[in-house]
Order: sequence, then structure tokens, then C-alpha cells
Amino acid sequence: MTLPSLFISHGAPDVVLQDLPATRAWADLGQRLPRPRAIVVVSAHWTTREAAVEIGDQPVTVHDFAGFAPELFQIRYPAPGDPVLAQRMVGMLEGAGLVAGGADHGFDHGVWVPLTLMYPEADIPVVVVSVQPRQDGLHHVRVGQALAPLRQEDVLIIGSGAMTHNLGALRPGSTEPPAWVTAFDDWVMAAAEAGDLPSLADWQRLGPSARLNHPSPEHFLPLLVAAGAGGGPGRLLHRSTTWGVLQMTMLSFGDEA
Ligand code: ZN
Repeated sequence: MTLPSLFISHGAPDVVLQDLPATRAWADLGQRLPRPRAIVVVSAHWTTREAAVEIGDQPVTVHDFAGFAPELFQIRYPAPGDPVLAQRMVGMLEGAGLVAGGADHGFDHGVWVPLTLMYPEADIPVVVVSVQPRQDGLHHVRVGQALAPLRQEDVLIIGSGAMTHNLGALRPGSTEPPAWVTAFDDWVMAAAEAGDLPSLADWQRLGPSARLNHPSPEHFLPLLVAAGAGGGPGRLLHRSTTWGVLQMTMLSFGDEA
């Protein structure tokens, strides 16, 4: 049994308190997938110069945001880490010619927002991996490829970011995204479904309105890691919109036929 890799658009932190099409899709997927032995989350909310892997045995829950409801700051995701797996992952990345190291980061909200709904028991070990915004798309595909063998060991690899992420263009109350948002989402899905990793890796040049949808790249990079880890065509699992411009698109890569 080889698990697929996933890309999840995690939305704003308070989606975890809401009943939304996307949050229902996360909960449903957690129940449908075979139970993983461990979960690797590549988070848009951990940016580093070189690849970093959380190596703690009990990472703390980090509330890395401000201005949201107080109950959001009470949420803890008490899953254990997996220092042995984490150290192996550092070795796998180094073996692929990538510079990598262990670090103490905790579970940022890119990790615990989706996992709180997918795996509410928090009893599966979680290892967090950073993204490297100074590096290009191909680098992130290679990070995914280096970690891909873990999928054969019942490890679920999740890229947690956003399909579209222009926080300056939010439109509260609107669920109908503008054309510059849907055109980018559609282009990414077409490239993913075709298994076109070179185009995905070159997303900032080829994707329509790429810079408008991602004024900074960090929320898209986890998709490239998931695509590299999956090694095969992507498949759309869920699509909806929050804040008028944030596509909550979720996809899997490398599904078994
Ligand atoms: Zn985010």
C-alpha cells in the first residue's frame, strides 16, 4: 500500500471553527484514507533558507497569527513528533544533494488547522518540513522526490499552503471568485492532472496572474513538494472559495489506480 501525497489549501486559521465545504472535505478524507503510520507536513508557515525538519519528540502548538477569536488560541494539537523519522528525512534530503538540517519549530497553523479536522485524535506522529522561498520551483519538486519513498512506509506527505493567496484582495462575503483567481487555479489543475512537473515548477512564469495570486511564493511551494512526492498526475479532491479570492483547492498525487 502506497499512500498518495496531498496538497491542502489551509485557508485562514479560523476555518477550523467553521463548518465549511473545505473543512468537511478534510474530515471526510481523514476517514477515507488508510491510517498513516506518520504524517509529514510541508508548511507554508515555516520559511527557511535551507530545508529544515522538525526534530522534537513533542512539538508545541504555535499560534502564529493575530486578530482572531480567543478560542482559536486555546487550540492545541498534541500529536507527538517522530525524531527518528525526522533524522532519516534529513539524511534523505542530504542524499539528494539538498542542504538540510534539524530544527525546533513546533506545529504552526499550517500544520494544525487541517490536521485538527483530518485527524482530531492527534495520535499519529507528525514531522514538519519548511519551505525555502529563496529557492525555485524545481528545488521544491526535488524535496518532494527525495521524500517520496516514505509513501511506501505508510507515511502521509501533505503540502499545506494555498492555491491562491492574495491577502490584499480579500472580498468578505463573496464566494464567487474573479477570473484572475479561477484562471490560475484552472491552469495549475490542468498541469497537475497532466503530471506536467516542469510546467508546475515554472509556475511563476507560466501560470496566469501568478504574481497577483501569490504576491509572495511561500503558500504555493508546498504544492510543488506534494507533486514531487507523488510522482504522478494530480487529482482534484475538493474546490471551494473563501474570502472571495482564496481557493481552497485540495488535490492528491500518485493515487494507486
Ligand atoms: Zn497560510
